[in-house]
Parts: sequence; C-alpha cells; structure tokens
Amino acid sequence: MDRMAELKATVQGILMENEPMSRHTSYGIGGPAWAYITPKDSVDLGNILHFATAADIQVHFVGSGSNLLVADEGIDGIVLTLGKSFTQLEIQGNHVYAETGVMLGRMVKECVKRNLSGLESMIGVPGTVGGALIMNAGAFGGEISNCLQKVDVMTLSGELKEYAVDEIDFSYRHSTFKDDEIIISADFEMLETSTAVIQENRSKASQGRKDNQPLKFRSAGSVFKNPKPDVAAGYLIDQAGLKGTRSGNAEISEKHANFFINHGNANASDIAKLIRIARKAVQEKFDIMLELEIKTLGFTEDIFTP
Ligand SMILES: Cc1cc2nc3c(=O)[nH]c(=O)nc-3n(C[C@H](O)[C@H](O)[C@H](O)COP(=O)(O)OP(=O)(O)OC[C@H]3O[C@@H](n4cnc5c(N)ncnc54)[C@H](O)[C@@H]3O)c2cc1C
Repeated sequence: MDRMAELKATVQGILMENEPMSRHTSYGIGGPAWAYITPKDSVDLGNILHFATAADIQVHFVGSGSNLLVADEGIDGIVLTLGKSFTQLEIQGNHVYAETGVMLGRMVKECVKRNLSGLESMIGVPGTVGGALIMNAGAFGGEISNCLQKVDVMTLSGELKEYAVDEIDFSYRHSTFKDDEIIISADFEMLETSTAVIQENRSKASQGRKDNQPLKFRSAGSVFKNPKPDVAAGYLIDQAGLKGTRSGNAEISEKHANFFINHGNANASDIAKLIRIARKAVQEKFDIMLELEIKTLGFTEDIFTP
C-alpha cells in the first residue's frame, strides 16, 4: 500500500487529497495540501499523529486559516484542523470550557449573553479558540490569555498533556506553545459584570473595527506586528507612502495599511512581494524591520526578505 492509501485506511474523519488551501484561508490563497484532514475525535487524531510520526510525514496544525498565508506551491504533508469537529462549548457560572474548534465569535457571543466579561472587545476577531490561543489574539485592550485557566494539548505521539496558564508565556501576538503539540481544548474563568459595561466595550470594539478595517475584502488581518505599543505598523507603512500599492490582484489597503487584501485571484507570491516592498520601505525610512504577525506555510523564509 502506498502512503496515501495507508493514511486513508487510518483516518475516520474527513480526508481531502490535494486539497487547495485557498478554500481554507481567509485570504482565499494557497496551493494544495497533500492531505487536509479533519479528524473525527481525539482517538482518530491520536491514530493520525501516530501514523504520521511513524511514516515521517510532516504535520501542520491549522484552525480556520484567518491568520495564514499559504504558498502557491502548496504544502507537502498533512494539514490537520480540528475546526469542524472539536466544537463543544460548555458554560457553567463564570467557567467556560471550549474545544479548540469553537469559533471565537460564538464563544464571545455566549459570554456576552450571560454578562461574562473578558472577551467582548474581541468581537469580530475571526478564527477558532485554538488559533486565538496560539496567536494570543487580542483587540482593543483585551487578549484571550487574560481569562485563561488551562489548556489541553496532544503531542505527536498521541499523549494528552495539560498546561496551567502560568506554564505558558503569553505576550503581544505570541505564545510559547510547542510547535509539535496540537491544542485540544481550554478552560477560562470569566468576570461577572453588568450588561452596560459589556455592551459598551463590545460596541466600542465593533465600531472601531468598522471604522478602521477593510472588512469587505479578503485578508488575514494585520500582516505585521506593531514594532512598539505606541508605534503601529500600519502607520509606518502609510508614512512610507504605500497605501494602495498593488502586486497583481493584491493590494496594501487604502483603509488600513497593515491589511493586505485579495481583490479576487491574488497569489501568495503577490502578497509576499507586498511584504518585501513594505519591509524595505519602512526599513529605509524608519530603520525598523517589521516582523510578520501572519503565519506562513510552505515558503522558504528568504521569500519575505527585502
Ligand atoms: C478581518 C480580520 C481581522 C482580524 N483581526 C484581528 C484582531 O483584531 N486581533 C487579532 O489578534 N487577530 C486578528 N485577526 C487574525 C486572526 O483572526 C487571529 O490570529 C485568529 O486568532 C486566528 O485563528 P485561526 O483559527 O484562523 O488560526 P489559523 O490562522 O488557522 O492559525 C494561526 C496559527 O495557529 C496555529 N494553530 C491553529 N489552531 C491550532 C491548534 N488547535 N493547535 C496548534 N496550533 C494551532 C497555526 O499553526 C498557526 O500558526 C484578524 C483576521 C482577519 C481576517
């Protein structure tokens, strides 16, 4: 049996062979993954990880692809997502248990309904709970790690492990989860507060997003991290005169210079070119090398070097 046939015999969930990643990224960009797999449950996940490790097949974990740029050439190996199968959400009092595939928006909405505060400023951040934890996603002053208690992960050998919040370092758009462990679920302790406070935080965040972000177009949110808390990457790119710069069908947004948008059939190489252009211009004008916030899959690192 060849490796694909063996893999198919192992997987109980959904396996898509040579699946275009453009169908699984908010950019709508990305070539085929050799195997794109949604495991049925944790037993299936363990078996798949075990098989991949034994067969020396590389495994990449993704959530809903809202912070991802995938190469046009695609990805060799397995792309695993728990986005459609690990979707259990339980709320008791101020305690929230969320499996990794729960959409952040759903969790925020359910918390807001119950006057549970901590995540309402993240209304409108796309993606799964797992992706948000890896990225330490945040917006308008709130970060997902602020109300986190513990996280369950699975290692490549199929072993389950638990991390208390203080065993992981979280900083701005960064966490120290290990690359070879997949997040399975997380527990949060929210703050009980009044409807008025929650609604105010939520409305401010929602309005801020509508006013400043090009939400009508496909993007992956901010491309670069802000180099300092008071220096926005978008401001530097704007000051370098790059708003509206295009490569093929990709454009540095006129509305928010840290959002690069896909007008239709842009390629990953178009986005990569805009990344090089922005880095070079900001380096020349401000002597700052911008660091990527988006995660990339299938590229050689130097493609983003100006
Ligand atoms: C319009 C728009 C607005 C945005 N606004 C914001 C914002 O305000 N604030 C913000 O922080 N982000 C923002 N983002 C970026 C994005 O929504 C977040 O980073 C989000 O948390 C990514 O979640 P995801 O499930 O899509 O993860 P993905 O993009 O699929 O993956 C992100 C990273 O997490 C890893 N990963 C995902 N799931 C797992 C798992 N279960 N186990 C291990 N690793 C995993 C992947 O390998 C990758 O490294 C925005 C994006 C868009 C498109």
